[in-house]
Amino acid sequence: MSRFWTDKIASLDPYVPGEQPQDKKYIKLNTNESPYSPSPKALEAMELEVSERLRLYPDPNCETLKEALAKSYQLNVNQVFVGNGSDEVLALAFMGYFAGGKPLAFADITYSFYKVYAGLYSIEPKLVPLSDDFDIIPADYENLDVSGVVITNPNAPTGKALPLSEIEAILKANPDVMVLVDEAYVDFGAQSAVSLINQYPNLLVVQTLSKSRALAGIRVGYALGHPDLIEGLERLKNSFNSYPIDRIALAGATAAVEDEAYLKEICDKTIATREQSVKDLESLGFNIIPSATNFVFVTHPGKDAEKIYLALKEQGILVRFFGSNKPRIGNYLRITIGTDEEMAALTAALKTL
Ligand code: PMP
Repeated sequence: MSRFWTDKIASLDPYVPGEQPQDKKYIKLNTNESPYSPSPKALEAMELEVSERLRLYPDPNCETLKEALAKSYQLNVNQVFVGNGSDEVLALAFMGYFAGGKPLAFADITYSFYKVYAGLYSIEPKLVPLSDDFDIIPADYENLDVSGVVITNPNAPTGKALPLSEIEAILKANPDVMVLVDEAYVDFGAQSAVSLINQYPNLLVVQTLSKSRALAGIRVGYALGHPDLIEGLERLKNSFNSYPIDRIALAGATAAVEDEAYLKEICDKTIATREQSVKDLESLGFNIIPSATNFVFVTHPGKDAEKIYLALKEQGILVRFFGSNKPRIGNYLRITIGTDEEMAALTAALKTL
């Protein structure tokens, strides 16, 4: 007999995360983690927390981390919200700001979690197609009858970035709904919309420590925006899990945000490696979408992406393949930028295929 809860669960279409195999050590170029270790200052702060303070609850308001973020982005503390990975921040934003009304606009090819949250909160997606070159076209976000807009900048899995003027055009076209800009990869060469926050009260920028700050393991993400939007997220969080960030993560995240020199150092390294990898992959006949991220989205006109993915896996190198049934991106691979050595191993392996 069907019951409410079984029907509800059966109707969910959960996100399928990239592989995190535990069986052997791979060169892992499939989930856009940093190949570098986090800031030494973050490691030190986390060790101190472990040795001295774990019997105590963490600060539910994440005050020190919010202060560090506010200082870094030249905002006030009441313009900063912190969550358990940007996935949690996005989930709260979808629940609080997009659910219960009109459809939500986002690109047809983008971070696949949006569709999952939409399903979870019964939000109808209004999918806006990317252009033939995988660009987001701002004019397509005008005159939409929607509850909100989500723009991923740079976009994933394509890696393409929109200039700030085009983000601003989308904000201007949607003054009455929230425009959420997911900037998970912004530090690898795109323009951030943070500078527009004081002008546009409908803008929420979401970022993460998982990529450019090499801290995917501690699960910290954040939102920056008008104090009213932030206050709404705080209310939702406190109605759900008032201690989302543990002590170790809070200490590590705060020290990492304060260490701007280290952030720059590892982002610069990643960008330099990306540019070299683009040349190497092009010389092997791949077509590469211009990337402003720590990954490249590639296809080979004469080769099957699934076969390449499987052959690389066999040789101990993991890249991301989304499935040959996926419209438009079925013959593409997304390759995270690793160290120079890892990328040289990838090139060497590809030469044998
Ligand atoms: N947004 C985008 C576009 C992403 O690719 C990811 C990571 N897969 C996230 C958000 C979530 O990152 P995290 O939860 O680790 O902060």
